[in-house]
Amino acid sequence: MLETKIPRFQLGMTQAARDDTSGTPDDTKQRYGLVFPQYKARENQPMAKAFASQADLSEKYVTFSRLSEHAYAFTAEGDPNSGVVVGDNAVMVIDAQATPKAAQAVIEKVRSVTDKPIRHLVLSHYHAVRTLGASAYAADNVICSEATREMIVERGAHDYKSEVQRFPRLFQAADAIPGLTMPTVTFGERMTIWLGKLQVDIIQPGRGHTKGDTIVWLPEERTLFSGDLVVSQVAPYAGDAHLKDWPATLQALRDLHSEVLVPGRGEPLVGAEAVEQGIAATQGFVEELFHVVTTSVAAGETLKQAYDKATAALHPRHGKSVLFDHSLPFSVARAYDEAKGLDHPRIWTAERDLEAWAMLEPAA
Ligand SMILES: [Zn+2]
Repeated sequence: MLETKIPRFQLGMTQAARDDTSGTPDDTKQRYGLVFPQYKARENQPMAKAFASQADLSEKYVTFSRLSEHAYAFTAEGDPNSGVVVGDNAVMVIDAQATPKAAQAVIEKVRSVTDKPIRHLVLSHYHAVRTLGASAYAADNVICSEATREMIVERGAHDYKSEVQRFPRLFQAADAIPGLTMPTVTFGERMTIWLGKLQVDIIQPGRGHTKGDTIVWLPEERTLFSGDLVVSQVAPYAGDAHLKDWPATLQALRDLHSEVLVPGRGEPLVGAEAVEQGIAATQGFVEELFHVVTTSVAAGETLKQAYDKATAALHPRHGKSVLFDHSLPFSVARAYDEAKGLDHPRIWTAERDLEAWAMLEPAA
């Protein structure tokens, strides 16, 4: 039921939002130059794959579940998760959501279980879709790793534009974003917050999904919030990854022997067996992706050839995973760079996003 005359990223919006033909508020559009040129070029070619998640407009079903004495997970069918830890005297939220409006949905769920103040917000990594809703919490402490802060400083503004373009549904209220989220507290390898008697460890276990990945660990409850280092029923995103390091970092998570793991996207994994399956599935995808692309690079093949081989290898088992089509072009592009020896991932700008997509997913 796609109405081909309406740009796909507007379907499912309110009538008022549709009447605003820009699809985003003018000031946001101006500030971030959102014109979706690639999409417009394809309006008359309905067979082409819509760019990234521009065709994904159906609202997702939200769940808020208690996983251990102090831990909760806010999930929405593969959209970015938020974690919640309710301590003796205060609340910690892990990952903010994309906009302050989206963050309000998390705050409402927190308020359904406690009236304690939200004092701490932890950013598992720098991606805009998790960080830009931070202002809604008015937390005393916004905490991330030093490496994540470096990424926000270096590429946060580019990532903002790129992710608004990739995920228009998640950024419908982008006009309320006050700007980049900067931390008030940074740490090196680990730090501990005491929520009264409750110990909350904040750990940077190594590089993987990004160079600054951070996990939150409740040792007494064996409950782990992994950020995007682990995803469940969702294709891992490797566009900014360190693919060679990722498996060793996952081993560090495994060594915690958690009983509950809240992944970056997808349903919580409950029980040691489910935790291991989730970690193993993420690791399997990452290793296969990097193996295929490394082999392709060693054979002197082009990025497009590597992409086609990666698609052929991964699609049979993972093609139905959330975000598979969205993320594979970006993930292969990064794997290709890393296989060629580029340690620091290239920045995804809104323009580079579209160029990569046009090269790897040309209109049929
Ligand atoms: Zn991410």
